[in-house]
Amino acid sequence: MRESVEHVMKVTARPPIVMVEGEGSWLRDSEGRQYLDFVQGWAVNCLGHSHPVMRRALEEQGARLINCSPSFYNAPMARLATLVAETSGLRDVFFCNSGAEANEGAIKLARKWGQKHRGGAYEIVTMHGAFHGRTLATMSASGKPAFEPLFEPKVPGFVKVPFNDLDAVAAAVTERTVAVMLEPIQGEAGVVEATDEFLRGVRELTRARGVLLILDEIQTGVGRTGRLYGFEHAGVQPDILTLGKQLGGGVPLAALVAGAEASCFEPGDQGGTFNGSALMTAVGCAVLETVRRPEFLAAVRAAGDYLAARLRGLSAGLGHGEVRGRGLLLALALRRGDAAKVVEAALERGLIVNAPRPDTLRFMPALSVTPGEIDEMLKLLEPCLP
Ligand SMILES: *Cc1c(COP(=O)(O)O)cnc(C)c1O
Repeated sequence: MRESVEHVMKVTARPPIVMVEGEGSWLRDSEGRQYLDFVQGWAVNCLGHSHPVMRRALEEQGARLINCSPSFYNAPMARLATLVAETSGLRDVFFCNSGAEANEGAIKLARKWGQKHRGGAYEIVTMHGAFHGRTLATMSASGKPAFEPLFEPKVPGFVKVPFNDLDAVAAAVTERTVAVMLEPIQGEAGVVEATDEFLRGVRELTRARGVLLILDEIQTGVGRTGRLYGFEHAGVQPDILTLGKQLGGGVPLAALVAGAEASCFEPGDQGGTFNGSALMTAVGCAVLETVRRPEFLAAVRAAGDYLAARLRGLSAGLGHGEVRGRGLLLALALRRGDAAKVVEAALERGLIVNAPRPDTLRFMPALSVTPGEIDEMLKLLEPCLP
């Protein structure tokens, strides 16, 4: 039986299938077809579909308390804030429902900090190619060319510089600047990594000039790169960190995290009806407690190394390009711009991958993906490649 999709707003081109079940790395549609899922809700389902620890958290917390309004503390909210603070080394955590909302909060927090500590400065330096979300301010902060003509006028106050260009960042930081904001790996731009030297350089520069460093780790955080946070690879620490996607493992949960210096919201500055609900934060606790375990993260690194090696082998054999990324956020550069066709052909064969750019395939499987599933993915992908 197929549901009618007539009334679903057409904000994206979707294939004419309806998904009904998921387990681990596999999805099933309403016709009973199986798909090996290497997108996982857009790098969201870090434990795969319907993992038992998430189901248990949903059932147990659902039976106890779902939502007591954001004007009260609840126990899972407190527990998850402590976990995020302890693991990130930052101090204060504000929970929200989407990555864009977390970044919107980061922008507001930086502007507030600018009002309090930098004479009303409000400009934020952001990167070409960046993706920070789909609210008006986060679209304005993004450096995605396709966003440029949309929904004018944009929110002012964002100065864009080329990614990985420390001199350009240095030139853009003025007395009007409050922060530099970037992703450790630009996922939506096609998995483009900030070099460790660039991240360290931006950290030193922002400290020396007295402005904040905001890291958008909505795609790289919570184990995706093989470390709990992407910033650990370069050994830097941001003043403000945003998390989303994997934090909830599939439920809507994101976080704005701030160090003591930056954390300057006062009562009334920030909020939201669903924020920090007991049900969502209980799931977040189950996810983070699972992912933070050293043996879990070691397995992510091993699976990432294996997937990268297999992709490199495939690419060399067929004359395609480089493999980029870290951990289980990987991309394969194709020699021609027909990635969308590859994605379509793969779906026909029961494989879900994504094309963030016309010449790039992106792989973001469950962090618990097995070597056998990686082998199966390559078997399905190979005949789809030109
Ligand atoms: C997905 C993403 C966002 C936006 O998150 P939403 O939950 O879709 O609002 C922001 N920044 C980065 C780096 C992302 O990958």
